[in-house]
Amino acid sequence: MTAKIIDGKAIATALRARVASEVTRIKRDHNWLPGLAVVLVGNDPASEVYVRSKHKQTQEAGMASFEHKLPADVSQADLLALIAKLNADPFVHGILVQLPLPKSIHTETIINAIDPAKDVDGLHPNNAGRLAGGFAALSPCTPLGCIILSKSVHASLEGMNAIVIGRSNLVGRPLVQLLLNENATVTIAHSRSRDLPELTRRADLVYAAVGRPEMVRGDWIKPGATVIDIGINRLPAADGGKPKLVGDVAFQEALQVAGAITPVPGGVGQMTVACLLVNTLRAACGIAGLPKPAV
Ligand code: NAP
Repeated sequence: MTAKIIDGKAIATALRARVASEVTRIKRDHNWLPGLAVVLVGNDPASEVYVRSKHKQTQEAGMASFEHKLPADVSQADLLALIAKLNADPFVHGILVQLPLPKSIHTETIINAIDPAKDVDGLHPNNAGRLAGGFAALSPCTPLGCIILSKSVHASLEGMNAIVIGRSNLVGRPLVQLLLNENATVTIAHSRSRDLPELTRRADLVYAAVGRPEMVRGDWIKPGATVIDIGINRLPAADGGKPKLVGDVAFQEALQVAGAITPVPGGVGQMTVACLLVNTLRAACGIAGLPKPAV
């Protein structure tokens, strides 16, 4: 058996097209544009690549994109002043502060300063709490993308056994809440979990968000299971060339056992920015009092 490869690129492209069409409709009917502000502190090369990609895709979706680049030694007070300005700006409906922040800045204080209605990363405690309570919330983008990918294989996740390996606030924990909202039965595993291979073998849906290259082996996977690989690990190339990207799942092994699987790259990573656009659109509609967009 060879698993179906879930095409994250195609699914993300279709999602961005639906967002763009909603943006066109808002512009036509109400004469304003949803706007996303991205704040980058310092010059971490990986963060710069992500921010460039967010800017490009926001513009391609027809939204207004505002970039704020601050030096690595910016004071926390100045960063908080910028957040306050963006919170008050009627042209900005979504605010994303690119993480990680320099060590001199207290990340939690910055996240807590973002207006929860504009918190398109879904990390503000109001949104995390609402999600945990089963209420409508802006949810973190990567977990949202994982749910969309899963539902591209299964129309409903109701009653399915899912395992989420990893419990970070960015990925694992919100993913568990989203799966519960889909009425899946969820096991959450972490570095202290016992007999992870056996726990994983019980799951119809496997989500790996660990940050350890190819940790989940083929013989951990239940035949026919759907595997969503969130990990992005850069392995140095043997010849000193470009690093190789691998996930948290041993792809070639899992491919022989799973029913469906996301590749790395070309899977979950593609969905994260697309879901950021979805969240910006939802935030904009929420702030303007428009119905939730159909994307
Ligand atoms: P993180 O904050 O470092 O969390 C890693 C989690 O994995 C922790 O909960 C940790 O458990 C658990 N873990 C570590 N070693 C383990 C082991 N041997 N067995 C079981 N669990 C173990 O990482 P993250 O931010 O969630 O990111 C996870 C991965 O997803 C990374 O590769 C990251 O690059 C990738 N990622 C991808 C996207 C995307 O767009 N595709 C977005 C975000 C993250 P403890 O809690 O017990 O320490």
